[in-house]
Amino acid sequence: MTPSTTFAGRTVALFGLGGSGLATALSLKAGAARVIACDDNPARMEAARQQGIETGDLRQAEWTSVAALVLAPGVPLTHPAPHWTVDLAKAAGVPVIGDIELFCRERAATSPAAPFVAITGTNGKSTTTALIAHVLAAAGCDVQMGGNIGTAILSLEPPSPDRVHVIELSSFQIDLTPSLAPTIGVLLNLSPDHLDRHGDMAHYAAIKERLVAGAAHAVVGVDDAWCRAIAGRRKGPLTRIHVGDAGEGPGILARDGIVIDGRRAPAEPVADLSGIGSLRGAHNWQNAAIAYAVASELGVTPDAFAAALATFPGLPHRMEEVGRRGTVLFINDSKATNADSTEKALSAFRRVHWILGGKPKEGGITSLAPYFPRVAHAYLIGAATETFAATLDGQVPFSRCGTLAAAVTEAAAAAAQDGAGEPVVLLSPACASYDQFRSFEDRGDQFRHLVTALPGLRIPGA
Ligand code: ADP
Repeated sequence: MTPSTTFAGRTVALFGLGGSGLATALSLKAGAARVIACDDNPARMEAARQQGIETGDLRQAEWTSVAALVLAPGVPLTHPAPHWTVDLAKAAGVPVIGDIELFCRERAATSPAAPFVAITGTNGKSTTTALIAHVLAAAGCDVQMGGNIGTAILSLEPPSPDRVHVIELSSFQIDLTPSLAPTIGVLLNLSPDHLDRHGDMAHYAAIKERLVAGAAHAVVGVDDAWCRAIAGRRKGPLTRIHVGDAGEGPGILARDGIVIDGRRAPAEPVADLSGIGSLRGAHNWQNAAIAYAVASELGVTPDAFAAALATFPGLPHRMEEVGRRGTVLFINDSKATNADSTEKALSAFRRVHWILGGKPKEGGITSLAPYFPRVAHAYLIGAATETFAATLDGQVPFSRCGTLAAAVTEAAAAAAQDGAGEPVVLLSPACASYDQFRSFEDRGDQFRHLVTALPGLRIPGA
């Protein structure tokens, strides 16, 4: 745990006692602050009390004696409307911050030279964060990974000069971190997302830009216009990441699955991603090129980087290889809850037995029509069945399977008879999971469970 000592002896109000909120309360308490914690959910308040945290109704708090309001990232700061605690804090002139800000203040106060890599972007944050942490750990670094992935930042070990913090940040977390100044700040890409919480694209992009502006060294994927503009405004050291065309300025390239260091003359190929099962698909080229930029900035050699890539296990539910049966490959891409994400998966395979459906998103799967020729058969599940059947009709043979279990049985049998080089049974639903599952993780876990129960399945690494 990282004790937050920068509020020692002062009172901090905290709203939102989910995973990171409770960790924050414990960290502040360990750092000798007085915490008054609050949540809408009485069970969470009770759980906090059981851990020795003082709870209270922040409507009744003496706000003039509060040094800061620490907000959980899921609680609205600005849009659609500020949370009532934010209104009370602002009226009393109390700063509103998040747990990442507490970490940044702790680092600045106790160990300003501690390496701190912060990663954001619209897509690929978790994969890139995990990949960077994996590469650095393989190179022998003491790595602490967390933030928006896995462990709450204040539950990690404290910053220190010989320990690297690799931290995924959502836009909500950046918004609550006014003194964000990482050693290396990564911005992967920007496309419209969460606009209900950020108002419009310009505001969303401005929040993300703060991470780049505050970084000692910035690494920016310049394949979209928003990120290109941000890179153009960057004053300090910058590494540009291009997928495909070299675009403007030297940088790191990822072309046809090869990561190339274009800062060297002549440009040097550093890693070949073909054959790395955990990094399939062109979207992962950007993630790998960014991981190389960060690793090389922290002193990892190209050879050590390439060797570490080959052992990256990947993240569950993101084009996760579950196993093989004969020539058939089974892939769990349950995280693909919209057509954009599913497009990444469909583009990575030539012959697909595609399991899809769930709670449909606006636009459905019409944008995926260019990939329909790759689909041998579609297996529909959940609430989207009739909508998707209408889109596929006449273009792709499909079955109405209803449940995931029925879809896996039918797809596995059909793929085994397929005769194509490497048929893939792909769960990439292009839908939210909530009609039939608790979460996309639950959906992916059930898929993995069903597939591993198939007789004769070979599991990677087993
Ligand atoms: P995030 O943490 O930003 O949600 P993940 O690493 O969990 O991102 O990946 C989620 C999905 O986003 C993947 O399944 C894939 O479809 C897509 N994706 C991953 N990396 C990228 C990228 N660099 N560019 C565009 N899409 C990506």
